[in-house]
Amino acid sequence: MSLIVQKYGGSSVGNPERIRRVAERVIATQRGGDRVVVVVSAMSGVTDSLINLAREVSASPTERELDVLLATGEQTTIALLAMAINSGGARAVSLTGAQAGIVTDGVHTKARIANITPTEMQRFLNDGQIVIVAGFQGQTMEGQITTLGRGGSDLTAIAIASALDADLCQIYTDVDGVFTCDPRLVPSARKLDELSYEEMLEMASSGSKVMQSRSVEFAKKFGVPFEVRSSFHHLPGTRVIEETMSMENVVIRGLSVERNQAKVTIDGVPDRPGAAAAIFGALERANIVIDVIVQNVSRTGATDISFTLNKDDLDHARRTLEPVVKEIGARALLAKSGSAKLSVVGIGMRSHSGVAAKLFACLGAAGINIEMISTSEIKIAVIIDEADIARAANVAHDAFGLASGPMLAS
Ligand code: ADP
Ligand code: ASP
Ligand code: MG
Repeated sequence: MSLIVQKYGGSSVGNPERIRRVAERVIATQRGGDRVVVVVSAMSGVTDSLINLAREVSASPTERELDVLLATGEQTTIALLAMAINSGGARAVSLTGAQAGIVTDGVHTKARIANITPTEMQRFLNDGQIVIVAGFQGQTMEGQITTLGRGGSDLTAIAIASALDADLCQIYTDVDGVFTCDPRLVPSARKLDELSYEEMLEMASSGSKVMQSRSVEFAKKFGVPFEVRSSFHHLPGTRVIEETMSMENVVIRGLSVERNQAKVTIDGVPDRPGAAAAIFGALERANIVIDVIVQNVSRTGATDISFTLNKDDLDHARRTLEPVVKEIGARALLAKSGSAKLSVVGIGMRSHSGVAAKLFACLGAAGINIEMISTSEIKIAVIIDEADIARAANVAHDAFGLASGPMLAS
């Protein structure tokens, strides 16, 4: 008898009919002879509307209360799914994150899981019940409700699979698996049968929201293999596993797109030790997450430093940096939103060259201007005008031949 953890995302439980479908699938899994733990998200749109509600009563809602509010989304789904299963002829019990033994740190709205005590889940499993756990939430040692960041139900599922030493962890969603690029943006995108943790992590952290990046980080760290697949049919999805030798032959695995980026340039920064530290230290203290950073070569004793960030953080960054610009004697602070990032990901890039040249050439031929470039061992990313992002993704997807099969090393 195997133990299976299944996670159903918001659109898979988006209405009563879909919840009944999920109930049937879960019951069929148990009848197949397996023990089942199910993790569910809030019904689609619910988390967003709760956030909007909070903003209607407060310009800056307190984070502790936001967590109390947002946790209700998942709590609704666990109860509904357990009811649907109970009336479908099997026995299910719903557990909040706290009841499931999920203990987190106290960083409200983006808490990290500290540990899971699975005794309650095990007790119900041993009793032959299907256990339904609310994703995205936990509690601190002191009993405060916390949430795990957007997309956090993925993390709940992976962490529970690890804590229970499950045989299988399935992430059910509204697409057939992980594609070479978001299929809603690139219609010719192809479903991948498998990819490595590292590639999934680079894709997730550069904008492929099909998996929450922290959940992939957790899976990689604790060696939890998982599968991303559709809740709308029974076809196999994408397996995310430890890297194998043959994976290195695939130069490019896929593309990611991240919209809503903004660019800040600090002009005329005196070229002396401590200037960059003053700028980025201030941003760090303000908890502003920075992505691509570029510093120009100094010709006249002064240089420019540019960086990107999420456009929602732009005003905060501007307010934070205005005094710093004066303090270090820089000339000006220029800010612009309306940028997006296109990333090309593949572990084969470690040992094969030419990817950057090919990417720049196809964007150039399409008349798309590159504003910034950043690279890591297995990724090349460019910042471009947001208006060009769909065209850029499609052009690059074609240039790397991703629709017809992986780009293999020659
Ligand atoms: P869930 O509610 O099931 O957690 P999400 O909306 O979080 O689902 O993630 C699924 C969505 O991720 C898809 O509908 C798709 O538009 C998007 N997506 C982005 N990049 C990719 C990719 N590379 N492969 C598949 N889906 C992707
Ligand atoms: N409901 C949460 C969100 O919308 C968590 C999740 O769906 O994974 O981000
Ligand atoms: Mg999700």
